[in-house]
Amino acid sequence: MTAFSWSAVASDGAARAGVLRTAHGEVETPVFMPVGTAATVKAMTADAVRSTGARIVLGNTYHLMLRPGAERVAALGGLHRFMDWPGPILTDSGGFQVMSLGKLRTLDEEGVTFRSHLDGTQYRLTPERSVRIQHLLDSTVTMVLDECTAFPATHAEAESSMVLSMRWAGRCRAAFCAREGYALFGIVQGGVFADLRERSCAALTDIGFDGYAIGGLAVGEGQAAMFETLEATVPHLPARRPRYLMGVGTPDDLLGGVARGVDMFDCVMPTRAGRTGRAYTSRGVLNMRNARHAEDAGPVDAACGCVACARHSRAYLHHLFRCDEMLGPMLLTLHNLTYYQALMRGMRAAILEGSLAEFSSSVRAGWTA
Ligand SMILES: [Zn+2]
Repeated sequence: MTAFSWSAVASDGAARAGVLRTAHGEVETPVFMPVGTAATVKAMTADAVRSTGARIVLGNTYHLMLRPGAERVAALGGLHRFMDWPGPILTDSGGFQVMSLGKLRTLDEEGVTFRSHLDGTQYRLTPERSVRIQHLLDSTVTMVLDECTAFPATHAEAESSMVLSMRWAGRCRAAFCAREGYALFGIVQGGVFADLRERSCAALTDIGFDGYAIGGLAVGEGQAAMFETLEATVPHLPARRPRYLMGVGTPDDLLGGVARGVDMFDCVMPTRAGRTGRAYTSRGVLNMRNARHAEDAGPVDAACGCVACARHSRAYLHHLFRCDEMLGPMLLTLHNLTYYQALMRGMRAAILEGSLAEFSSSVRAGWTA
């Protein structure tokens, strides 16, 4: 059995290239994790996800606890077998979705009570229950349950929310059943306030986690404030543990995050955009529904080797989206995830060569060419 670990292979400024070792295989970092909300990366077979270069995916506790239920997934052999993904899976705690339910949920010291958005059934999520659900799912990386601080928040609001999340982080650590190759990550909160972020890092490192996530960003504060908050947070995290920026982001956010010392990312952007006809490419974002692609025999992205680009034209993708054919979202999701994975591999290679800044400026120049 392999112990869970992350080790650096090279660094370039604050950026790191490394390797995550888990019970379900190794993953090179920096890494982007496609989001497999309901035990599926939407519009993609597991083989298609692998073909993009992805080696770790994310699952959503909130959705899976409602349907099909964590106990049922466990009875069917766990999430890896259920969705045919033998590689590592990271699950969120359910907190983000539950906090987004607004009037459908009530928060107290012990946990959060909420009604399902599907049928109104009442559920209770506590730090202990969230960790238990993720155990039943057989998640490789379990995330602590936290309160996602609203944005904007005053310093006092962000402080009391962060302090509650730190108490919950301690309860998650106590409830977590350690297994070889499995991990529990803490989540730094504190809004956009540098002093709160520093206190949150200290509280989490006191408890001790296998990795550290930075939560509560990409919630409306804007890229400049997000980068500033990262710069105020990352130096206070242990150097030998992986760092995960939750819910981020655009390709430009990924370049900025890696340059500031982040190792792991997840976001619905490439998959969601793929379903609505938006393509991330080496020449910027394209809308395949746009009439200017109707007679274009060229590929979505000449620099991409995915099936959508190697075998099909922009005109074909345009046609599929105009006709609402399901192959359109399938091909464009495949392309977007392939683009994201290639971007991460490019950054890793550049870190190994000590040329991340040059790599990032040439990628950004391509978007505006
Ligand atoms: Zn492609």
